[in-house]
Formats: sequence, structure tokens, C-alpha cells
Amino acid sequence: MEDLLIADPEIGRAVCLEIERQTGKLEMIASENFVSVAVRQAQGSVLTNKYAEGYPGKRYYGGCEYVDIAEDLARDRVKTLFGAEYANVQPHSGSQANMAVYFAAMKPGDTLLGMDLSHGGHLTHGSPVNFSGKLFNIVFYHVRRETGTIDYDEVERLAKEHRPTVIVAGASAYPRIIDFPRFRAIADEVGAKLVVDMAHIAGLVATGHHPSPIPFAHYTTSTTHKTLRGPRGGLILSTEDNGKTLNSQIFPGIQGGPLMHVIAAKAVAFGEALKPAFTLYQGQVVKNCQALATGLTALGYDLVSGGTDNHLVLMDLTKKDVTGKDAEHALDLAGITSNKNTVPFETRSPFVTSGVRLGTAALTTRGLVEADMAKIVTWIDAAIKAVGNDTKLEEIRKEVQPFAKSFPLFAW
Ligand code: PLP
Repeated sequence: MEDLLIADPEIGRAVCLEIERQTGKLEMIASENFVSVAVRQAQGSVLTNKYAEGYPGKRYYGGCEYVDIAEDLARDRVKTLFGAEYANVQPHSGSQANMAVYFAAMKPGDTLLGMDLSHGGHLTHGSPVNFSGKLFNIVFYHVRRETGTIDYDEVERLAKEHRPTVIVAGASAYPRIIDFPRFRAIADEVGAKLVVDMAHIAGLVATGHHPSPIPFAHYTTSTTHKTLRGPRGGLILSTEDNGKTLNSQIFPGIQGGPLMHVIAAKAVAFGEALKPAFTLYQGQVVKNCQALATGLTALGYDLVSGGTDNHLVLMDLTKKDVTGKDAEHALDLAGITSNKNTVPFETRSPFVTSGVRLGTAALTTRGLVEADMAKIVTWIDAAIKAVGNDTKLEEIRKEVQPFAKSFPLFAW
């Protein structure tokens, strides 16, 4: 940090302020986590200087012998972690992993059956503002109004009616176990390929805290930075027979040179995920989320689907007459970082929303346990009741900040 502060004080200052924010607040954005020092060192290494278009052993540049070591390790480790035959660790992001898989499995104009964004899906699952919605013919499935869980009968009905080329299972805001065997059975009935986007739950899948999609999906994609606790990026898993096509869809299809420093950091994170401590960590993530759900429910908050099986809860504030936007702002002033989120059958715009999504992956990395969740629930409740009352929110922040700082993050 010293070199950066001297060379570029403005950026150095922004980084220092961000360190203060990350240490002084409670991070409850369900898609975020804190990587280890080893992951950051790999990502901050000289591997960033290297061009390595192509794949290990078959590069378009000289001098790739050492970055090849990193990419081979990343691929081998992630295959072991998830029990997959084939892995591509080059996608710069989860969105690019999805793009490459779609291009491998479909032609523009083909039909994709994906989960509606406001019911928990991701932009890349067919939103009209995303490439997926622009290039493909999209049909959306939903959750049931009564249960908040995926309406598998609707998925089957829509699949039979529209005969999609691809069905996407996976979500950004879905708190329950996803039934991959059911999705595969539906895909097989209509001759579709099943793509599972496990971005949110990858860490849980790695340790058996969520059933694995690998035996059921034709293609599995993920981000590496959520519950998996690696650097920002993406990955693709599949069977060996799809490998050649998938490799060419990433490079030269949609990407140029791979980010070798990020791939090295992915390898470090996959190595960490293979250790027994990671299984304990994921178990605690789930326990913490259950404690969060129980605490919020006891205080009268509605949770979509009535609770959680994974690392996130989705609060539905409709009955509380508070918008997601106002709740997110109040929580932030109180020292709790979250994000507003649409809820199923949403009546407000995506900029306002009726919900707030909360996750426990990052707090669990800091060492928080169930009893800490009980405290956090009382602060969340107090903050939501204090929307618009900045004095009260500042009082809450004064309690939250020392509490957050009592769980030191990794050294900087
Ligand atoms: N898929 C899912 C389910 C996600 O939740 C996300 C990110 O939030 C992505 C894909 C996209 O990942 P990225 O932001 O790396 O493009």
C-alpha cells in the first residue's frame, strides 16, 4: 500500500477508504465475500504482465511456461473440487461464462427458458436489457405465489409448449435448494440442453451443502467470487466432449488474452476450497443464514419462501410499507451493507423494489456465528424502523462499527 500511496495518492486514498468501509461495516451483500491474503497476492502478482492467448501447451505467445503451471493447477483443482471432466477457468466474469456456453449450445434466435429476473434469475438468463434477451427468444419461468419456490410444473409446461434449445437453472436471489434432477428430466423430455448457473451457491455445492448440478447439467457455469470466495471471475464445467467447442467459444470466440493473474488467484482459491476448513466454513454460512432467517421471522418480517436453505434470505417488505431502496439506504447509514432487490410479483420498479437481499457468506468469513446474527437482526429491525431518522441511524452505526471491527479482517 505504501508504494501506491506515494505513486498515486488519489487512488491510494480511495483504496484506504474502501478498507475502512469493509472493516467498519457489516457486509451482507449475498454475492460478496472477502478473499484471503494469498488470493490477493496471486492476483496482485507479476502474472498480470503476461499475454497468453490460447490454452496451456497451445499458446499464441512465447514465455508461457510458468503461467501454464497456474492455469493447469486452476483447471485440475476445480475439476477435483466439483467432480467435473472438463473445466475452463478463463471467463473474465460469470456473464462471459454464460455467454460462451450459450454460444456453444445455441444459435441466435433459438429459444432459451430461464428464470424471470424479478423472481430470482440473473440478467444473463434472458433479460431484454442483456445480450441474452437481445440475441435469443426468451421464455421465463417463475416461482409459485403461495410458496415462493420454483414452479417446476410451469417449467415443464413452458418447455413442452416452446421447445427451448436451452433451459437455464440457477439464480441470483433464490433462497431454496434447486432441484437439478427435475430440471434435467424436463430438459430431456423436450430435447433441450440444461445449463446450470451455480454462481451464488458454488461454495455450498463444493462442500455438499447444496446438491451438485454436475451429474445433471450439460453445462455448469459459475462466478468465482461469491460463496466460492475467490477473485472476481467466472468458470465453466462440462463433460470432455464439449471441451473443444467451449474452449473456442471463450477464446477466440468472446475473449482475447486470459487474465493470468486472476487465473492464478482462482487456483489459490480452489486450493483453499479443497481443504477441510472450507467445509466447516460453508456449514457455518448456512447455520448463520438460518439464524438470520429465524430472527427476522420472529420480528414479523416476511421472507420470500418463508426462510432459507442456503446463504441468503430475501426480505419482502411489502407489508411493512418500506421500499427496498429506503431500507437499503437506512441499513447503510446504520453500518450494514445490503442491496435492494425485487421480490416475486413485484409492483415497484427495479430502482425502488419491495425487497432487500441479505447474505451470510462474507460475515462468516470474518468469523461471525449464530449468536452474532441475533444481534444483527435487532440492528436490521431498528434501522428499518428508523428509515428517514438519520440521528437514530447514526446511533445504531455507533454500535455496529465497533462490533464489526472486533472481527478483524485479513491483514492488508
Ligand atoms: N449468474 C448469476 C446467478 C449471478 O448472480 C451473477 C452475478 O451476480 C452472474 C451470473 C454474473 O456474474 P458477473 O457479475 O461476474 O458477470
